[in-house]
Amino acid sequence: KYIMANNGVLPDEPHKTFDTILTLDFGSQYTHLITRRLRELNVYSEMLPCTQKLQDLSWKPKGIILSGGPYSVYDDDAPHVDPAIFELGVPILGICYGLQEIAWHNGKNVVAGTEREYGHSELKAKRFDGHVDLLFKDLEDDLKVWMSHGDKLGALPPSFHIIATTKNAPFAGIAHENKPLYGIQFHPEVTHTPRGIKLLENFAVGICKAKQDWTMDKFVDKELARIRALVGEKGQVLGAVSGGVDSTVAAKLMHEAIGDRFHAVLVDNGCMRLNECEQVKKTLTEHLGINLTVIDASDLFLDGLKGITDNPEAKRKFIGGTFIDVFEAEALKIEKAAANSPKAGKIEWFLQGTLYPDVIESISFKGPSATIKTHHNVGGLPERMMNGQGLKLIEPLRELFKDEVREMGRKLGIPHDLIMRHPFPGPGIAIRVLGEVTREQVAIARKADYIFIEEIKAAGLYDQISQAFAALLPVKAVGVMGDKRVHQQVISLRAVQTTDFMTANIFRFDWDFLERVSTRIVNEVDGVCRVEYDLTSKPPGTIEME
Ligand code: GLN
Repeated sequence: KYIMANNGVLPDEPHKTFDTILTLDFGSQYTHLITRRLRELNVYSEMLPCTQKLQDLSWKPKGIILSGGPYSVYDDDAPHVDPAIFELGVPILGICYGLQEIAWHNGKNVVAGTEREYGHSELKAKRFDGHVDLLFKDLEDDLKVWMSHGDKLGALPPSFHIIATTKNAPFAGIAHENKPLYGIQFHPEVTHTPRGIKLLENFAVGICKAKQDWTMDKFVDKELARIRALVGEKGQVLGAVSGGVDSTVAAKLMHEAIGDRFHAVLVDNGCMRLNECEQVKKTLTEHLGINLTVIDASDLFLDGLKGITDNPEAKRKFIGGTFIDVFEAEALKIEKAAANSPKAGKIEWFLQGTLYPDVIESISFKGPSATIKTHHNVGGLPERMMNGQGLKLIEPLRELFKDEVREMGRKLGIPHDLIMRHPFPGPGIAIRVLGEVTREQVAIARKADYIFIEEIKAAGLYDQISQAFAALLPVKAVGVMGDKRVHQQVISLRAVQTTDFMTANIFRFDWDFLERVSTRIVNEVDGVCRVEYDLTSKPPGTIEME
């Protein structure tokens, strides 16, 4: 069994060094936004499932937020918090289901409403001696809020009073008379509640007195110290890099922390973008000073891909499996060489660029019947390697959202182009060459992709697009070129905009732009006589083609 580096091994985790608001998740689709908004306020926040037992928590939050959720508190199998949180003495804010949970805990008077309430509402904060409650401080008396609920409080719980109302919700905001216990029926974390962030600030900073000291500078300093303490004077760390944002930022951080005792490995699978391997190598070694080994395994990958014609899953599996083989062999070599170095010790750690959304995904509350996955499934490094070689995971980005990773990258001096780079799948161009992947097909797709991205950058559109690429369709169409009839393949261009990659819209280029790209591709890429633009949103399409 491997040890999770961040699982209580060191005393320095962020929730122990930063004032932290704990968000308990009841399965709302917005829970992560609560965490996100608090971080935007420079208040550190972490999410745990609502089933978290207080006695198992090794740190004390400054305050607790109970999220919304799809259940009804009065149902037999409805989730409930550990009642011990109400005895902890820290402020608690219940949002929607969270409010109903507080009411349920205080008298059980929650019922199904006669009408559901979805959408906008006008909230009126109540005045007491001319002042609104602390929770609504500096907020206009008429506040636009967003509601999404079917249940309601049957009555005010004992010892509570009303602090805000809407036309349909007499208990839109309640507070305890002498304890810092608050409940609101609306969602302050969504953008449909424009001043919601101020309300969260009132709670976290005004009521919980959390320090607003979650800044990237501070986190980087603490994280460097944490990595050094974790790895020790001689310990060595191994990690794979791809040229993507996460692995580059993680690698640069490791380099800052332990210098050449961090070994980055880049596996060239023959399916990277045009000139990408050289470029990544140049940036990482020359610009960022990272100790990098590049392994050219392109023949191994491209030979093995031969004959996989109609099975995207088989392609992905083959590439994933081969990657592990190559990486593992290299790890053994580096380990052997390292063992002979007097300055350094054994390679004990494996770096992984896991981000907070993966962690959230793995610990979100999935409902009374679903079993909750643990952190241990996050990532995807083969068990075989972890167990076989006894490597322990080190995941310095596991508390960060993507934009925080980018901010860290900027602080560490990583070039803008790399920080804003579109995601690129592990199997690379292999899943953008539909059908069989051959050297010739990869070369065609690569060249077309290069032209497309070059034009997007030239038009200043790159940062507005979430992901763009060219794919090669394995069909032939007729064309006429230089008065000659040709029978050649088709390139499909795809560009999407999305915030979370769960859903996506196509990017609306102007026709001149698309025409320019099409002309260039047909002229410059041998073997292509037509260019199409993919108009499929996600869903029903996926972002990649395979
Ligand atoms: N299920 C509860 C209701 O319908 C809570 C909804 C929510 O938290 N958004 O009232």
